[in-house]
Amino acid sequence: MPVFPSYLTPEQEEELRNIANAIVAPGKGILAADESTGTIAKRFAGIGVENTEENRRRYRELLFTAENVGENISGVILFHETLYHKTKDGVPFVKILNDKGIIPGIKVDKGMVVLAGTDGESTTQGLDGLSERCAQYKKDGAQFAKWRCALKIGDQTPSYQAMFENANVLARYASICQQNGLVPIVEPEVLCDGEHDLYTAQKVTEQVLAFTYKALSDHHVYLEGTLLKPNMVTAGQSCTQKYTPEQNARATVLALSRTVPAAMPGVVFLSGGQSEEDATLNLNAINQYQGPKPWALSFSFGRALQASVLKAWQGEEKNKEAAQTQLITRAKANGLASLGKYQGDMATAAGEQSLFVPKHTY
Ligand code: 13P
Repeated sequence: MPVFPSYLTPEQEEELRNIANAIVAPGKGILAADESTGTIAKRFAGIGVENTEENRRRYRELLFTAENVGENISGVILFHETLYHKTKDGVPFVKILNDKGIIPGIKVDKGMVVLAGTDGESTTQGLDGLSERCAQYKKDGAQFAKWRCALKIGDQTPSYQAMFENANVLARYASICQQNGLVPIVEPEVLCDGEHDLYTAQKVTEQVLAFTYKALSDHHVYLEGTLLKPNMVTAGQSCTQKYTPEQNARATVLALSRTVPAAMPGVVFLSGGQSEEDATLNLNAINQYQGPKPWALSFSFGRALQASVLKAWQGEEKNKEAAQTQLITRAKANGLASLGKYQGDMATAAGEQSLFVPKHTY
């Protein structure tokens, strides 16, 4: 007779389930502020701000202390350094977030490397010592984690090798997080680089998600205590045909409904280089789409929640409040979109500006 030992106690399962459900509470989503030191350097370069530790701290303080940011933000993903930062008055960021009812999360992957024998495809590193790091992060206040894998669409990609490997590494990561009390956000991002049409993006997303959920099942990951962070299904960045938010929404919900189990509580989309306004309009259309949607459908945006903030801030203390207003407006707009109630009337400073970065790393 087959034996299925349960690796989590009922109490551990309940804790994970409660965290996951709190993150996707109605009208709320995640602020992804976990840019690595190298990635935030690029964002700062765009506004002429030097990438020093103090500037990174000041910028994140601005984000986390915005008044009422907890109304539409349920969780924030932090980079290692930021988890241990404090406000200028000496209050730990973790306390600031907890006091606002925002759940701190942590990026635990160590970035992508090329997979030998592929057409420039990648896998993500960071499993060595992950259990010990997760245990420490949990003690230090993190309740969930993120690990990003990226797959690219090309003539011969994504390959079986890349889909299989990335699904497996995501499943190993998820299992290790759960054993340490962190809800794993599983992020298999299908990049939007390329000329492919919407249908191709949909079919590739379906394949990648199918590999992912097979691996999560193989590794006995407790789905009720996970969240999925996928790309929205959109045509390639260089595709000549343009699609409406309704068409993107249909392709996205079809791909998800064919591959993502109903036991998984919430989908928190990445913004993936869409403009702020496009990301919000697409999320809204996804929630308005009439089709099988057994999970919450919300956001975990990095660029699409921060582009206007950076533009308003410019590194200047005197612009702090104006920058915070941009964040709150974007968060509110996305909160409404996660309920399918966005009217398209809350564009902010970066508005329609494309946030696409070729071969994006995080
Ligand atoms: P974007 O929303 O900028 O794509 O990033 C979200 C994220 O956390 C990617 O890992």
